[in-house]
Amino acid sequence: MKIIMLGAPGAGKGTQAEMIAEKYHLPHVSTGDIFRANIKNGTELGKEAKSYMDQGLLVPDELTVKILMDRVSQEDCKNGYILDGFPRNIPQAEVLDKALAELGDKIDHAIDMEVPDERIIRRMVGRRACVSCGATYHVENVPPKKEGICDKCGDALILRDDDREETVKNRLNVYHEQTQPLIEFYEKKGILKTVDGTKDMMDVFKEITEILA
Ligand code: ADP
Ligand code: AMP
Repeated sequence: MKIIMLGAPGAGKGTQAEMIAEKYHLPHVSTGDIFRANIKNGTELGKEAKSYMDQGLLVPDELTVKILMDRVSQEDCKNGYILDGFPRNIPQAEVLDKALAELGDKIDHAIDMEVPDERIIRRMVGRRACVSCGATYHVENVPPKKEGICDKCGDALILRDDDREETVKNRLNVYHEQTQPLIEFYEKKGILKTVDGTKDMMDVFKEITEILA
């Protein structure tokens, strides 16, 4: 099963993708996590990606498409995967579609998580992320058991540089201009499913599992 998580930054894609990954034994593939791991390790890719990410801009397609294609061609992705944060524009979606079609394959579900912009800002400034394992928390909504420490791997949690309010506003603009058109793109393909992302995270998960059943 191949799933795409759609929705604004902060809609809860990563949170749900983690839960889907666990229940269905599928890898959670987040291009944002791959970039952050590269930044942490000081790679050339990380340095280049950071200059865009810090401004709330998309990393250029030449870089992003390659890292995504490399990732999904790995052994653990052969029975499917959950894409979180990719595609983020129509050209990326077209490259993915074409690559899958060449293998006689396709995406099964594109799940759009709807959350209004005013809620997004509150979520993002309260988000805390683990750069080691990609887990996300929220200081009020989803706190870790021990403040500042990841429940899953014990590493330190950070406030992402791009989760500051000004950058979040830029990211929302980029989302509306470049990513939102994907909703119509997948609707036309007949695989779009919409969920109300403002609900409690377990209720959102229930809706998603009903879609995937
Ligand atoms: P995305 O991957 O779409 O950017 P995240 O999954 O990181 O979003 O969620 C953004 C923030 O909102 C995180 O701090 C997360 O803990 C919190 N969050 C996720 N889902 C919910 C929910 N249903 N209700 C309230 N807060 C949520
Ligand atoms: P995310 O963790 O999905 O919120 O992504 C964080 C940042 O990484 C984004 O604001 C972009 O700068 C960059 N990024 C992640 N995925 C992509 C993508 N598919 N295309 C371009 N840039 C991306």
